[in-house]
Amino acid sequence: MNFSKFGQQFTEQTGISQLMDDLGDALKSDQPVNMLGGGNPARIEAINEVFLRTYQALGDDGADGNGLASTALSSMSNYSNPQGDAGFIDALVGFFNRHYDWQLTRENIALTNGSQNAFFYLFNLFGGEFVQDGETVHKSILLPLAPEYIGYSDVHVDGQHFLSVPPHIEDVTHEGETGFFKYRVDFEALENLPALKEGRIGAICCSRPTNPTGNVLTDDEMAHLSELAARYEVPLIIDNAYGMPFPNIIYSDVTLNWNDNTILCFSLSKIGLPGVRTGIIVAAPKVIETISAMNAVVNLSPTRFGAAIATPLVKDDTIKDLSDNEIKPFYKNQARLAVANLKAELGDYPLVIHKPEGAIFLWLWFKDLPITTLELYQRLKANGTLIVPSEYFFPGIDVSDFQHAHECIRMSIAADEATLIAGIKGIGEVVRAVYDDA
Ligand code: PLP
Repeated sequence: MNFSKFGQQFTEQTGISQLMDDLGDALKSDQPVNMLGGGNPARIEAINEVFLRTYQALGDDGADGNGLASTALSSMSNYSNPQGDAGFIDALVGFFNRHYDWQLTRENIALTNGSQNAFFYLFNLFGGEFVQDGETVHKSILLPLAPEYIGYSDVHVDGQHFLSVPPHIEDVTHEGETGFFKYRVDFEALENLPALKEGRIGAICCSRPTNPTGNVLTDDEMAHLSELAARYEVPLIIDNAYGMPFPNIIYSDVTLNWNDNTILCFSLSKIGLPGVRTGIIVAAPKVIETISAMNAVVNLSPTRFGAAIATPLVKDDTIKDLSDNEIKPFYKNQARLAVANLKAELGDYPLVIHKPEGAIFLWLWFKDLPITTLELYQRLKANGTLIVPSEYFFPGIDVSDFQHAHECIRMSIAADEATLIAGIKGIGEVVRAVYDDA
């Protein structure tokens, strides 16, 4: 069977699809596996109870005003319009305006089937082939700091996908201890980027906190990126999958801003609802109209079930309380536990850890590791622990001569305590052997 060029893009076995298969297989396997590889959020009992209670109440809340027996039935048995569930959008407008001085209206918000779906839309809307003044121009999405989220790769339908800038690496302390580093945006390189000056960038995008590193771009860095985006008349897309105000897995002291040139992406996944596939875009009305039109073509309308569960939690700020008082402290504790165990296992080895500032991962750098972390991944897998090697997290950079990109791993801290400790023990054993045998 012949597939189009578009189709072939999805059938090629890439390194990362192989990895994703490994992660899926591990979940199905009856062999015990220390799963530190995936992006699934943790199971937090207090949160799950609220979701379950809310879910049950939806099925049992009487007539919804449209003659249907319950909100659950109403949201299951009707399409929303392509922009998304109107009740949830209204609740979000109220929520954001209550907590931020953004003065949003309904025209500023659209829903998508998860934020991954939003990135497919946005990267194809702002990257690819443009016709400007009768000339064809190919534009890329600029990632101002790589490593960046693996899921951005391969969402483009055409064109050169990404252009990224390697970071500055700074030694820092964390909670009074040494052995940590932090990535910083290389603004000198950005300011001098020919693609930006020559109009070959369609948008700037960053995740904050960053998957995979747990880095949180500072307010100064964000202000500079926002100014740069405005100067070159391209939007700044900020991926808040782990950020403010929910799930708020951020430990550094930063703020979230929005203006007409900023596109904010939010998700219900990392508060613990990845299965309901709900993403939220906050942007200027013209962007929202276009996203809604894309929804109409691709999905008819976005799923309503996540919206139904989240609406009451957004209306009364429960979502914020849970984020601030349950989710954030949970991951902060997990990060501390993981760091303590890593230092106990590998304190005498050249391991440095990216300062844990947020998200659900730790990013470990094994300096001068005698093998690549792709090879380390295989050895760890054979030893019963799954992580993700670093080379996939540099979309838009040729990593063949970039040693740092082969010396790091991403490990999830969302696993239960026993798995996290066992996985770190496995990492300790294998990494010590790699250095000792060299
Ligand atoms: N952005 C980041 C940084 C992520 O880590 C993820 C998922 O892991 C997503 C976006 C997509 O999440 P979802 O489609 O579940 O909203």
